[in-house]
Parts: sequence; C-alpha cells; structure tokens
Amino acid sequence: MDRFGNKVTPAKNYTLIDFVKEKLNELKNYDNIANKDSPLVSIKNFEDIHMDADLLKAVYAAGFNRPSKIQANALPLLLADPPLNLVAQSQSGTGKTAAFVLAMLTRVNKKLNYPQVICLCPTYELAIQTGEICTKLSAGITVIYAVRGEPNPSVAQITEQIIIGTPGKVMDWGIKYKWFDLSKIRVFVLDEADTMVSTQGHHDRCIRIHRKLDLSCQMIFFSATYDDEVLDFVQYMVPNPKIIRLPREQECLDNIKQYYALCRGEESKYTAIQNIYGGITIGQAIIFCNTRKCAAWLTRKLTKDGHSVAVLSGELNIVERLSILDRFRAGLEKVLVTTNVLSRGIDVTQVTLVVNFHMPILHGDEKPDYDTYLHRIGRTGRFGKHGIALNLVENENDMKLLRSFEAHFRKPIKLLNTNDSDEVHKLEH
Ligand code: ADP
Ligand code: MG
Repeated sequence: MDRFGNKVTPAKNYTLIDFVKEKLNELKNYDNIANKDSPLVSIKNFEDIHMDADLLKAVYAAGFNRPSKIQANALPLLLADPPLNLVAQSQSGTGKTAAFVLAMLTRVNKKLNYPQVICLCPTYELAIQTGEICTKLSAGITVIYAVRGEPNPSVAQITEQIIIGTPGKVMDWGIKYKWFDLSKIRVFVLDEADTMVSTQGHHDRCIRIHRKLDLSCQMIFFSATYDDEVLDFVQYMVPNPKIIRLPREQECLDNIKQYYALCRGEESKYTAIQNIYGGITIGQAIIFCNTRKCAAWLTRKLTKDGHSVAVLSGELNIVERLSILDRFRAGLEKVLVTTNVLSRGIDVTQVTLVVNFHMPILHGDEKPDYDTYLHRIGRTGRFGKHGIALNLVENENDMKLLRSFEAHFRKPIKLLNTNDSDEVHKLEH
C-alpha cells in the first residue's frame, strides 16, 4: 500500500511514457463522439435558424455543417426581435463563440460606420482568437481590436462596426478618450462572463462600461461555468434574461478522461513531465502550473535537458505571447507550459493532453478552484474530440483537492499506476 492506501505492485518497467503513448494512440481510433444526446448535435440545421444568406454561406465555408446544441438553442433567442437578453452556459468546446459571434454579426447595420457591438474577453489571446473567428464569418463587417499592443485608432472616431477587446482598453477607448459612443452600442457580449464579473479588475471595468450602455442594448453573457453567487449578480446586470443552464452532472463532458499519477515531490513530477514529453506522439500537450515562477523553472529545466517546449505566462509582452501561441497552434512546439492565463477559451484542436502540474486552488487559499479545473481540462477534447487530463499528485493535500474535483463534477479521476502494466492496460478507453 502507498501512503494514500492504493495497492502498489512491483515495478514491471512500465512507465508513464508507455501509458501516454498508448492512450494517445487510442485517440487515433476515435471519431467525433457526437450522438443524439451530445451537446454537439441538434435536430436543427443552420437553415432553420433564420440568418442572413451571406452569414449562412460563411458558416458553411468555415466547415460548420450543423449547429451544436448551444448554437441551436441560443441563436433563435439571440436573433429574435425585439432582441432578448441571454445568459447561457454550455460545456467547454461546444461552439459558444460562433453562437454569440453570429448574433453580433446579425445585429450590425452595415450602412453605419461606427461601433455597434462590443465583445469583452478576459485575456489578450482570447480577444484575438474571437476576433479572428468574427472576421472569418464577417461577410464584410468591420472589426477592431481594443487590446494592449494594438495601435490606437488613427481617427478621432472609430469607424469599425464591432469592437473586440479586454475591459481596460475598451473602457479607455469609450470613456476616457471617447473614440466611440457607448450609448450607440446595440449588443454587449461578455465571453467567460463569470470571470468577467467576479475577478476584481475585470469586474470594475465591465461595470463602468455597462453603466454607459443604453437600456435597450442587448446583453449576451456566455460561459462554461457559473456559480450561484455569480449568477445572481449577472441577473442584476442583465434585465429579464433568458437563461440556459446546465445541471452540475453535465458540466464536465465524458470525452475528457481524467487520471492522476502519484509523484514524490517536484523532482518526481519533473521526471513524470519528461516521460510525458517523450510519450506525446499524437497531438500536443498543455501543462498548467500555479505560478509563473514554476512555469519558468519547468521550462528552463526541460529546455536544458534538450526538450523543445514553449512557455506562456502573463509576464511576457504581448508580441511574445501571441507569437508563442501562434507557434504552438502551428505545431512547432508540442508542449506548452503555462499558467491560468490560458485556462479559459483557448481553442487549439490538436491538444490531446492537459497536465495539472499543480491542482488549481483559489487565490490566497488552499481551497479547490472548481471552475479553473473545468476550464483547464477543457483545453483538450474540443468539439467532441477525445482528450486526457492528468493530475500530478504530490501530497495528502493534493489528494484532497483531487477528490473534491471528482465529487464536485461527479466524474471519476482514476489512478494511473505506472508501476503496474496490467493495471494500466485495464484502464478503460
Ligand atoms: P467554446 O467557446 O464553447 O469552448 P469554441 O467556440 O471555442 O467552444 O469552439 C470549439 C471548436 O468547435 C472550435 O474549433 C470551432 O471551430 C468548432 N465548432 C464550433 N461550432 C461548430 C459546428 N457547428 N460544427 C463544427 N465545428 C464547430
Ligand atoms: Mg469559449
């Protein structure tokens, strides 16, 4: 027995590297897991959702053949006249972006050359990613990014029709410099809405922007997670919202298989990561650390040992951050070490493995951060693909956190006993 009471069998030379290789190989044999109860399919077609013909063409050109459940449920509400406010929840990777982007594009009056839509995102990277999807589907509608590192508008009044950005910049542009008129905004979108209204800095800025909006402005809030307190507050911001909410047991999808490995201290975790690195023959991996310092340490060590890995954390400048993410998206590095800055929204479809080097905990506390756990593991298993989440457990406290995540989402997190090949072989797919 080990110190957690798990049966430990003698080593048979079966390592984490073998496990990861084997599991990732299995992913090759899976297709999309969509079935009739899946959040990825709906009985509707995009034609049934009465969209503009150009938009419909752009949707098909983007390779979206059928709407996902959230798209089919949300879009009729979002496109209704008079406009309805919506607070919507849907699991990671189920296509929330296209749902609100299609609504944003539909509401723009192409003849008017000023901002009519604002979409706020919590991070620079997510704003850029969302802007790129918006531009891809835009059918001639103009988009400007209000994020750090982008040039300020070259004219006194912005002529683009959609502003996508982070709260600080949008606040500056709209309130401090008055480069556009907030009272003319017809649609206000908060992606990752729960973190936008509950994180100190974001909260204040979002509220200040929100206060300047016209009462008739349509409010659209999306996220994969809302706790009850946040939901109460959101409803105070959004008049008479329609609400789409998930029962707790559906928040975490089954296409992401969750495991844990026991490690004896940081060095043993490092060895595990080295093994994992060698095991990634299919797809790519994201490793989450709780601090920038740890992310930097891990990356330095891996690089010194000859592995090619990238690190992305908040201390880098904007140009570096985007170039690192672009390289990772292009597959130039197969492993990305990061912090919670990338825990939400980022969509890199080839990510097959997410590793929690540390279990996510609430700021300044040792309590489990359920939302961050769900968002982190949701960086794999995008739109029905299969993915693996692996938690590195070092001590009793980690084990407690792990059990809390397991109980909260009601999904098993299985022991990966890398000393026992039989046990590993028995792991279900
Ligand atoms: P979420 O915001 O819900 O986490 P995203 O909007 O980032 O998810 O979408 C996840 C992935 O699904 C993206 O790669 C996107 O291109 C893809 N996707 C979205 N809608 C569809 C659709 N209807 N058909 C096929 N793929 C889709
Ligand atoms: Mg998203």
